[in-house]
Amino acid sequence: MLRVAVIGSGPSGVYTAQALVAQDRVPDVRVHVLDRLPCPYGLVRYGVAPDHEKIKSLQNSLRTVLEHERIAFLGNVEVGSDGISPERLGELYDAVVYCVGAATDRPLGIPGEELPGSFSATEFVSWYSAHPDAAAGGFALRARSVVVIGAGNVAVDVTRILARSAQELRPTDVPHGALGTLNGSRVREIHMAGRRGPSQARFTTKELRELGGLPRVRVVVEEAELSLDPAYADPSAHLRPALSSPPNVPPPTAAARRNVEVLRGWAAAG
Ligand SMILES: Cc1cc2nc3c(=O)[nH]c(=O)nc-3n(C[C@H](O)[C@H](O)[C@H](O)COP(=O)(O)OP(=O)(O)OC[C@H]3O[C@@H](n4cnc5c(N)ncnc54)[C@H](O)[C@@H]3O)c2cc1C
Repeated sequence: MLRVAVIGSGPSGVYTAQALVAQDRVPDVRVHVLDRLPCPYGLVRYGVAPDHEKIKSLQNSLRTVLEHERIAFLGNVEVGSDGISPERLGELYDAVVYCVGAATDRPLGIPGEELPGSFSATEFVSWYSAHPDAAAGGFALRARSVVVIGAGNVAVDVTRILARSAQELRPTDVPHGALGTLNGSRVREIHMAGRRGPSQARFTTKELRELGGLPRVRVVVEEAELSLDPAYADPSAHLRPALSSPPNVPPPTAAARRNVEVLRGWAAAG
């Protein structure tokens, strides 16, 4: 028998456990999936936005894996810090696989980042996802205007959650306290700021397009700003990205071109 500890019960940990029991080179493998949190599934549970039920439902497949007769989930077991040491794990198991994700923020390192009213996406997402690490005080949402820094799907998630009404979010997993706060939210304007142009944004088009379909939401695109990106202003620039882009910026992907089309559509609609 081979005893393996997998540290972390997010998708990478669970799929590792699945692969271990599915292989037949070592027939009798027993896997313990350890997580410092009491509940499994990592950021699928505590990161993926609660209104994206289809992606959230991946938890059902992950649960099926954890129910395998040779796999056991052990929650509330932290490796390192004050928890179990890697040395002790080495005594208890034949192999240890670390699948611990990327749980912490990466500060931008800019002045003012630490001022009141400035938060990381991790803090905000943890709050509306009921993560055990979420700050007890939560958020007040007294501001009328919010700026979301970033041009990827997490920025879209944060923007969408701020833009949705509490009523829309009520059928989801959003915790009661957060729903109450969102219900009293005074936020009326949400600005999204990306450091580069729209053709370098990392949104997936489906997520971006969803913003335009939200009830009582108007998406405003400032054409003059977006057209600073050569690939926005001149569609043929897509065909010669190496000439039209700054040297350290990768050429637009097919997804980026679709994003640009969505943004153009919003700009044209005024
Ligand atoms: C806000 C947000 C939204 C997202 N939305 C989507 C989406 O819509 N679609 C999509 O495909 N992807 C989405 N992702 C990305 C997706 O969640 C991650 O790619 C995926 O969860 C990574 O899986 P993982 O197993 O590597 O890490 P994680 O899911 O982070 O799991 C790591 C696990 O390790 C545990 N752990 C960490 N340290 C220790 C320790 N010392 N001891 C014990 N346990 C430990 C953690 O508690 C956690 O459960 C999103 C991510 C975020 C942050």
